[in-house]
Amino acid sequence: MKMCIACGMPMTKIADYPSYDISRNYCKYCAKSDGTMKTFNEKLADLTLRYTQYHSMNYAVAKQTATVILKKLPAWKHKW
Ligand SMILES: [Zn+2]
Repeated sequence: MKMCIACGMPMTKIADYPSYDISRNYCKYCAKSDGTMKTFNEKLADLTLRYTQYHSMNYAVAKQTATVILKKLPAWKHKW
């Protein structure tokens, strides 16, 4: 089983992969409509939005939390 390099989600089903392509290292949530991986800033915006919506965090806290989580993932490690 692989883990998405961009968000950490375990990819257990073929449906978790972008366009059912299991050769990818990232999940469908981290793929753009053309199948390429989203950028760090796009994922940061995604996660920040998710935290503010589902966990009622304020924007600054949500963004900080999202940054900490993303920094640990293989896709973005080289940025630090
Ligand atoms: Zn992902």
